[in-house]
Amino acid sequence: MIGRTLIIFLVCCLSITIFSFVKNSPPVEKKQKVIRTIIVDAGHGIMANGGHNGAKGAYSYEDDICLAISKEFVKNLQKEMPEIKIVETRPTEKITSLSRRADIANESNGDLFFCIHVNAAVPIKRRTLTGYKTVTYYTGKGSKRKKKTKNEPQYKTVTLDNPAKGTETYIWGAHKSEEKELAIRENAPMLQEPDFKKSYGNIDPNSPEFIALSLLKTKQYFKRSATLAGFVQDEFAKVGRVDRDVKQRGVGIWVLQATAMPSILVETGYITNRVEEDYLNSKSGQKELADCMIRALKTYIAWLEKQQDDIDKENKKSDKNKPKDVSAFLKMVEGKEKAITR
Ligand SMILES: [Zn+2]
Repeated sequence: MIGRTLIIFLVCCLSITIFSFVKNSPPVEKKQKVIRTIIVDAGHGIMANGGHNGAKGAYSYEDDICLAISKEFVKNLQKEMPEIKIVETRPTEKITSLSRRADIANESNGDLFFCIHVNAAVPIKRRTLTGYKTVTYYTGKGSKRKKKTKNEPQYKTVTLDNPAKGTETYIWGAHKSEEKELAIRENAPMLQEPDFKKSYGNIDPNSPEFIALSLLKTKQYFKRSATLAGFVQDEFAKVGRVDRDVKQRGVGIWVLQATAMPSILVETGYITNRVEEDYLNSKSGQKELADCMIRALKTYIAWLEKQQDDIDKENKKSDKNKPKDVSAFLKMVEGKEKAITR
């Protein structure tokens, strides 16, 4: 009798355990993808008149290097993350207008804008003393006029290669930046476009009005852009590149201002530095740069997923509905950020 009661008791316990386990187990849901489409933007390109548009090194052009690195990045990205859709704004050597780049990114509903460039530093001009020259001059007038001589220093100006090197990653930021020269250089192609007025109207990309408007549009992507940019620089530093850090650009670059998604611009190295020019032109250098960016991207995706998990947990706790799509989730990520900074 005792034995039978015990068996019934144990069966009951087991049933309750199994039942409660089944009931409490979360249904297996397919995780929402935090990144579905990535826009890869190779900077500059060959213009209609056949000329190059970007910076120039001793023997190579920024336009060609940007395309080569972008192609390597796209190829390896496709291999490693086939589920992600990749859209190239400049798939060939030909230039794409800056307004078209932003349109392609926005029309493709990109989740991320990856802009690849090569940096340039202006040569250093140095005045050096070459010697002295005896110069004759006269003082006084009439009978008091005297002939005198003096030694005048002679100079010559030599132009030296700027030794600047390393990588830096830009995000579009609200703060005023002293990097005006670079910003103007990167924006310059749009001003040269033949249909500039038609594409952009009367806007001046460096005007305070346009910057204010862009700020409203892009500030919601600031945290994600800054996080990704930091991961990219970390990966470059790990392979021994000189880390020139994440920088914000107050005087913006059109593509970073006009894309409605987290956006970064990677200056992969200096074409004006001979060692780096060789590196940027080498297959191994291009592969290393692409691999760094892919590793950074993986870290970024893991970071976004972690944010998603945290929000899911919070939602469960507060008995709220889960976000219905990724954009709602991303809004929540930024909303959470606002709540912290407020
Ligand atoms: Zn550039």
